[in-house]
Amino acid sequence: MLGTSKKRLEEFEFIHWIQQQAGSGDHLSLGIGDDCSIQPQQTNQDLLTSTDLLIEDIHFKREWSSMFDLGRKSAAVNISDIAAMGGTPQSLFLGIGRPKTISDAQIQEFLSGFLAEIKTYGATLAGGDSCSSPGPLMISVTVQGKVVTGDAICRQGASYGDAIYVSGSLGDSALALQQLQNGQQPDPFLSKRFHTPTPQIALGQELSKRQLATAMLDISDGLLADLGHILDASAVGAEINIADIPLSKSFQQALDGDLTLIDLALSGGEDYELVFTSPLKDLDRQINLQHPVTRIGSISQDSGLCLRQNNGELYHCQQGGFDHFS
Ligand code: ADP
Ligand code: MG
Repeated sequence: MLGTSKKRLEEFEFIHWIQQQAGSGDHLSLGIGDDCSIQPQQTNQDLLTSTDLLIEDIHFKREWSSMFDLGRKSAAVNISDIAAMGGTPQSLFLGIGRPKTISDAQIQEFLSGFLAEIKTYGATLAGGDSCSSPGPLMISVTVQGKVVTGDAICRQGASYGDAIYVSGSLGDSALALQQLQNGQQPDPFLSKRFHTPTPQIALGQELSKRQLATAMLDISDGLLADLGHILDASAVGAEINIADIPLSKSFQQALDGDLTLIDLALSGGEDYELVFTSPLKDLDRQINLQHPVTRIGSISQDSGLCLRQNNGELYHCQQGGFDHFS
């Protein structure tokens, strides 16, 4: 243990505070406070686990976001991985490497955001680790969730003829990031899409429960890169119609003649929408959720990813993704 005895007391108080705030979950027989949490297992369920690491100035900038929103986003991007499998999040584990420049009030604000976000999905903070960082703020989040045995939707499973769908709209978060980098203030809708993305848990659950999707992924690195993972894992190709990519009103307003922005919808990251494949061609009409689903193309026999441009021409593209701030 690096700290002095005074530091240890601070850490104890800090953990005690987290424990008070986090509460407990019905699925846990033991939560924060011991060496491990304990989660009794049910027989017909698979346990899903995923982890994410967020480093200041690589994945986020403190000056662009409130600590509350940063807490929310840290939880949301992790929970999105559970959505991508069609599961239900249950327990989260939070590691914090805290620089000296962050006050107790700021860290509490971060935790409040984190806890508010996970509560939305009925999940519980079940443990973590806390230490000081000599450099940037570092956040490590692990989520565990459940899905009925065999119902998890993986990257592998897309086959020739399947339709390709995406949820929501694409490019909003990347557009907000571009505006922030240019010193502009994104409008409230784009801001929300960047700072507090919404993991698509209900949609993922619906697709897994009704076994409607053959392959699925959440879009964190951009549509082309993430769809590319489905194509690689499933050993198939795809054709996407650019005209069918769903764009928000705010995005369309910004687009206004500047067609280069369409790249943000294709390759920009951090939308945390779902991209999935299905043999059903009218799934957009079968899913009765508020969040829209749009058909954007189909799985082809030949490998590779082709974009049908607005003039009808096919463009064979290289997979490109989102390069966090670099
Ligand atoms: P250990 O020395 O066994 O790692 P700690 O003193 O680090 O134990 O943690 C004590 C308890 O507090 C554990 O249950 C741990 O999961 C929890 N905990 C520590 N840091 C955090 C955190 N940032 N978020 C949630 N729980 C935490
Ligand atoms: Mg520890």
